[in-house]
Amino acid sequence: MTEEPGFETRAIHAGQDPDPVTGAVVPPISLSTTFAQSAPGEHGGYEYSRSGNPTRRALEECVASLEGADHGLAFASGLAAEDALLRTLAPGAHVVLGHDAYGGTYRLIARVHGETGALQHTAANFTDDGALEGAWRENTAMVWFETPTNPKLDVIDIEAVAAFAHERGALCVVDNTFATPYLQNPIASGADVVVHSATKYLGGHSDVVGGFLAVTAGRDELTERLRFLQNAAGAVPGPLDCYLLLRGIKTLAVRMDRHGVNATAVAEMLRSHPAVERVMYPGNGGMVSFICKGGEDAAVGVAKRTQLFTLAESLGAVESLLCHPARMTHLSVVDSPLAVDPALIRLSVGLETIDDLLADLKQALDAG
Ligand SMILES: *Cc1c(COP(=O)(O)O)cnc(C)c1O
Repeated sequence: MTEEPGFETRAIHAGQDPDPVTGAVVPPISLSTTFAQSAPGEHGGYEYSRSGNPTRRALEECVASLEGADHGLAFASGLAAEDALLRTLAPGAHVVLGHDAYGGTYRLIARVHGETGALQHTAANFTDDGALEGAWRENTAMVWFETPTNPKLDVIDIEAVAAFAHERGALCVVDNTFATPYLQNPIASGADVVVHSATKYLGGHSDVVGGFLAVTAGRDELTERLRFLQNAAGAVPGPLDCYLLLRGIKTLAVRMDRHGVNATAVAEMLRSHPAVERVMYPGNGGMVSFICKGGEDAAVGVAKRTQLFTLAESLGAVESLLCHPARMTHLSVVDSPLAVDPALIRLSVGLETIDDLLADLKQALDAG
């Protein structure tokens, strides 16, 4: 092939050539923790499984390819990936964080790196004119945001934020967990680093926790530092986890297509339901949020009544999940600028039969 293979082809094959010894078309789960050397320090690229593992390497090449990145690094969780990235900043550096972000990201920046004095931060609503400028400081070294945001599903202009950051010598980091590389490639829009909680759509089946960093070309020093941290701090995923992620990613494109079809139908139904005040749906992907009429009590009632939509944290898998962020995923930001409207419900629309999903939501809303 002369042209770069398409997304689906790369999702199935990137980093996963048939095994040169056995011909196996699925990368083996390499459980060995150590690798034989022919002479001290001479080896075939692997020495110890924390430093490098063949199954992990396949995953790193695959996701890097999907994100249009030069480099990929897999971690034990999304937060482990985020932690490694934050550790690359100089002590005392300032981070501007999108206001509508995953609660755990805020907690990591504010309460882990913030409380030791290592990092400063300001939360900013990137949808407000001048918010980025207002949050900026002389020592701002990184802008970090999600798009669509969580849980309000606002869409942020990656190109504009990246240009703003680069003019001021800062890094632009995009958490692409919600959109996935199938719907959006932040690096093509100027982002330097893409963060994933691979636990969500990349894995796609609610059975593996994982994280990922994809780094654009030309950021070699940053990549080297991240590789150093991945090994030196050691928050790496196990080979079975890497295998599960590789398996999930093979169907990412078809899953995202159907997530989008189902979520569009759900958003449409919610828009016409009298118990719903407002629906937030960016037009693609599987996440839908809505505000219930009647405030927190009404939202909590709906959350208790759905049956097919399981009340649970997390998102991005084949089964439909419902979350009340103010009391669940965003509890850690309840008294912060990131606090969420307690009347808001967030849906991760799964791949069940759409009529069943609509009927479940209707009965939960009608009973209110
Ligand atoms: C879940 C999530 C994270 C954290 O990832 P873990 O795999 O749970 O550590 C980060 N960002 C977003 C947008 C998430 O949804």
